[in-house]
Amino acid sequence: MIISLRDTADRLMAANSFVLTSHVNPDGDAIGSCLGLKFILESLGKKVQVLIDDDVPKFLSIMPGLDEVKKPVEDHYDADYLVILDACLDRVGTVPEKCKAPVLNIDHHGTNDNLADYLYLDADSAATAEIVYRLAKAMGIKFDKDSATAVYIGLATDSGYFKYSNTTPQTMRAAAELLETGIQPEKISEAIETKDFAVVQGLAKALQTVELYADGKVAGIFLDYELTSSIETTEGFIDLIRVIDGVDISVVLKAVEPEVCRVSMRSKETDVSTLALRLGGGGHKRAAGCTIKLPFAEAKNCLIDEILKAIED
Ligand code: 5GP
Ligand code: MN
Repeated sequence: MIISLRDTADRLMAANSFVLTSHVNPDGDAIGSCLGLKFILESLGKKVQVLIDDDVPKFLSIMPGLDEVKKPVEDHYDADYLVILDACLDRVGTVPEKCKAPVLNIDHHGTNDNLADYLYLDADSAATAEIVYRLAKAMGIKFDKDSATAVYIGLATDSGYFKYSNTTPQTMRAAAELLETGIQPEKISEAIETKDFAVVQGLAKALQTVELYADGKVAGIFLDYELTSSIETTEGFIDLIRVIDGVDISVVLKAVEPEVCRVSMRSKETDVSTLALRLGGGGHKRAAGCTIKLPFAEAKNCLIDEILKAIED
């Protein structure tokens, strides 16, 4: 059932205990939204657990409260609501099996499947963290440095530090208000963007795989299983090819298992969310992703076919 922001805030205020979760392969918005909402709800005296069915990437080490992000190791978790942030039910691993509470879903992905008991969806928000910011306002909560840092990281990472097309005056106003708490944006971006030397060496190897298609409108980095296994993270790699002159769609395909490939896509014109949906994934018009359960070479062919069809449309 689709609900309003007001109804979402009222439900959060009326309940006492929550399990908060987000998608596997968590990013700054997933963790920032969960921890931001955790701090906000705890300031109202509520009991909150954050469960993520995956490892939290190293680049998010600056996030306050990270020690309280747990994996769902128990068989059963009690709560008044299971709150799913920045994802729909199908991308949160085993958490819904282990927490049978009514599902309150808060998301900004237009491709959300609307299967939760309650859904607040705003595809015009740059980040789910922007919705968390508005929920805090609706609940009359003031930000402190911890909640501001978590929400700011969600806003900043999903908007490419306020430069992607999802950045709106509301995004900037929210960020400005969060900075009023005294948090330092340069410290946050430095911590998030710092890479181990080995990752930069991996980046050099990845860049050697760049191929162009469709007269240069498509650029891709293609990492087979061996290469993927030798690189700790591919975070940010896609940003280095989306800048190639004339490129509309950029893509990173990596074989995370011998027969499982992860795909990240970005675009300037073509709607990559519908393209990702066709491949069983989802996302936004300008940033989307999917998992293709095929060996590397087949997954690559399948992906290129779909991209070329989308470019022709
Ligand atoms: P990224 O390339 O940064 O992993 O993802 C880009 C956007 O697409 C993010 O908003 C992310 O949540 C979404 N996305 C990535 N992979 C998937 C997927 O497999 N399924 C769905 N529904 N969304 C995805
Ligand atoms: Mn997001």
